Amino acid sequence: MSRRSAPDSVGAFILHDQLLAPLTTWGVGGYAKTLVTPRSRDELIEAIGWLKTCCSSFFTLGGGSNVLIGDGVIDIPVLRTTETRDLRVSVDGENVFIDCAAGTKLSEVLALTIKEGWSGLEFAAGIPGTVGGALSGNAGTLRGAMDKSVVMVQTVEEDGSKHEWKADDMKWGYRRCGLLENTSRVVIGAKLKLSLSDRGLVLAAVKEALESRGLQPCGHRTAGCVFKNPQGHSAGMLLDRAECKGLVVGGARVSAAHANFIENMGACSARNIMQLALICKKRVFEMFGVTLSFEIKTLGIQEEDIYVGR
Ligand SMILES: Cc1cc2nc3c(=O)[nH]c(=O)nc-3n(C[C@H](O)[C@H](O)[C@H](O)COP(=O)(O)OP(=O)(O)OC[C@H]3O[C@@H](n4cnc5c(N)ncnc54)[C@H](O)[C@@H]3O)c2cc1C
Repeated sequence: MSRRSAPDSVGAFILHDQLLAPLTTWGVGGYAKTLVTPRSRDELIEAIGWLKTCCSSFFTLGGGSNVLIGDGVIDIPVLRTTETRDLRVSVDGENVFIDCAAGTKLSEVLALTIKEGWSGLEFAAGIPGTVGGALSGNAGTLRGAMDKSVVMVQTVEEDGSKHEWKADDMKWGYRRCGLLENTSRVVIGAKLKLSLSDRGLVLAAVKEALESRGLQPCGHRTAGCVFKNPQGHSAGMLLDRAECKGLVVGGARVSAAHANFIENMGACSARNIMQLALICKKRVFEMFGVTLSFEIKTLGIQEEDIYVGR
């Protein structure tokens, strides 16, 4: 695949040999041979159409806050959505609908709802990233998740066609959206449903949501929780009881504040993070017989690449 093969309209937002580390919250990751950064929903659709004709696969990157990107060269094109940001609001009785482009920051939507006194997204306080990324992982906390706030999701399908999905058809689960798993289906936008409320009430609920996150590390580069909570357990508690807090591999360290967070201490590689995560996973299995599975997504690095002993 080469830049020449892209029409001029798409070529305008393609860059080659771009370092991905600064595009992730962990701050690790190698060079993408091809980085495609459309600047509007229309350009996003055009870019996906081109990628689907020229490449067997590509990776969609939102805010990079839930992804571990390998240290080597990323051969498949990376489609970055963060410049496709727009919001359209409509009100119908007590209901408020916000139609957001996939790359819109979740925090930007939340800020608008606080300013206007619209209720329904308070749980999202403190969750970085884009609307598309949040839908892909059904982002949330114990207070709620995206599946409860979204009514419609617009995608570009495997065959390049556009589709509007009702939220009920998206196959939601805990930190997953079945319809967006293992496919090259891309979210281009979504309609959220909120309700008219009171600014003070919304702000108080947001403050409460932020306070409940108190034990998470601040001021360090992380990607949120590394592992999902296994059924009936808290991954953080298992990792804590397995004495993972403070473990270090190279520039990666398990947070002293929350055992399910891995911090980049500087001079950290994706390999360091993966190795440390797998050591933690092994400890938990050996101690409790519970197999942890990743909440983070990976690109260009896999569990199987790294051996941490039997
Ligand atoms: C400090 C911190 C705190 C966090 N707290 C929470 C929390 O409380 N709850 C929680 O759930 N998460 C949390 N996270 C993780 C992360 O913020 C969320 O998962 C977030 O929704 C990811 O969005 P993103 O845009 O950064 O996605 P990315 O990390 O860029 O991508 C994540 C996945 O989504 C896919 N994706 C992205 N955009 C699209 C699209 N348009 N169409 C299809 N697929 C797409 C990617 O391919 C990838 O598989 C936290 C992260 C950090 C750094």
